[in-house]
Amino acid sequence: MSRLLASPADLVVSDLAVVHDVEPVGLVADVVPFSWVDGPGNRFAVFLQGCNLDCIACHNPHTMPLKTPLARRVSVPDLLEEVRPVVPFLSGVTVSGGEATLQAPFVAAWFAALREDPATARLTRYIDSNGCADGSTWDLLLPHTEGVMLDLKALDVATHRELTGLGNAQVLDSLDRLVAEQRLAEVRLLVVPGYNDSEAALRATGDYLARRAPGIPVKVIGFRPHGVRAAARHIPAPTAEERTAYATWVAASVGDDLVTVA
Ligand code: SF4
Repeated sequence: MSRLLASPADLVVSDLAVVHDVEPVGLVADVVPFSWVDGPGNRFAVFLQGCNLDCIACHNPHTMPLKTPLARRVSVPDLLEEVRPVVPFLSGVTVSGGEATLQAPFVAAWFAALREDPATARLTRYIDSNGCADGSTWDLLLPHTEGVMLDLKALDVATHRELTGLGNAQVLDSLDRLVAEQRLAEVRLLVVPGYNDSEAALRATGDYLARRAPGIPVKVIGFRPHGVRAAARHIPAPTAEERTAYATWVAASVGDDLVTVA
């Protein structure tokens, strides 16, 4: 697997200083005005450019680099204008990516603007995150955010590093912080055959989540090769029976009523 990022940490420090030079300006890869898969209800989903992980199984590898001519720079007022015409049909907005928390000043400013505007104030504001965000980033975001959908790529640190290029200590810290602040809306487990699909690993993940995030819904997602880089296309998609087994192993601790499978 070729790595697109020399160092995720270097990317964050050097490039976001430019992105957030004067006013918060977002680097946007894509906008989906109506999405049913990015949080509760019908949502205006914004996919921000740039990620601090380098996942083998990434379905949107074009959103990983911060520097690309494919992304557009968008101001907070401009993004507010984009959402305004579709507000009557929405439950809320979601920022995803890439990794949305890399652009925390922009996300916080947009969420604050949505809340202050009477036309958009009723929309709920959610973040889809890989969890690689520090405490000061969540300090900035959580006052403006109702819910976070958090990816846990693997509970085992070596497997997480193999799948993403980084360990998972910050992800687990984020999970604890979101639980403590009652902002964790869902945990998402992408199961990649040959990496994190063993019964032992998924039962251990279920045990962990039942202890650290009791009552939180868990979505078990089977890997699909569609859209991934060439080096990951050999990984098979799990069958329906295998996906059901994954969910059953996680649900043994988390509870059947809290686990869904996709
Ligand atoms: S965290 Fe998401 S966007 Fe980033 S590399 Fe992984 S799968 Fe792709």
